[in-house]
Amino acid sequence: MKILEKKIKEEGQVLEPDILKVDSFLNHQIDVSLFQEIGQTFQKHFSDKKINKILTIEASGIGLAVICAQNFDNCKVVFVKKAASKITDDHAYTTTIHSFTKNTDYIARVSADYLNEDDHVLILDDFLANGEAILGMYDLCQQAHATVEGIGVVIAKGFQSGMTRIKQETGLDVYALEVIEGFEKGKVILRK
Ligand code: 5GP
Repeated sequence: MKILEKKIKEEGQVLEPDILKVDSFLNHQIDVSLFQEIGQTFQKHFSDKKINKILTIEASGIGLAVICAQNFDNCKVVFVKKAASKITDDHAYTTTIHSFTKNTDYIARVSADYLNEDDHVLILDDFLANGEAILGMYDLCQQAHATVEGIGVVIAKGFQSGMTRIKQETGLDVYALEVIEGFEKGKVILRK
């Protein structure tokens, strides 16, 4: 995606050694027109699938999923919760995910009321590193007997293990709008 490529190159900040900060359009401030184009691109790619639900993870995934869902017919968004809450939900699926950016484990959960065997799910996230968040969401879908129709991310780091792990563990390809090959002297090298 040309506009995304431009944003990453012009606004992305490389934080050594392997993190790209993209707060100006993806993780803090949201570029709505960019998100609309991202949503249309995901819809085109997955147009042959019958998707009734987009599953993502809080927080950055939510805005993305909501805008993307507008491009699919009758598609709801469910986001996986990370934080423990006083409002407990006995009827929930849980999985442990290792956070790449915080380097800690957390329990992710989704209510069984909002994910079940009738669901045909597109899993979406903002970034892919080692695949922990996506594989956690895949595990929640498995527990709920929902069908995973596809996996999409806005930016994948091709030099980390996520894409390979996801293919090996789920049999599914990750559709990434941009893939980072690496960083060189503070600049982002994108896959052609
Ligand atoms: P994974 O679960 O694939 O190891 O890591 C992906 C998650 O960590 C994403 O949900 C994203 O929030 C965060 N993340 C991993 N690497 C980066 C990065 O380089 N930049 C940003 N902005 N987020 C990242």
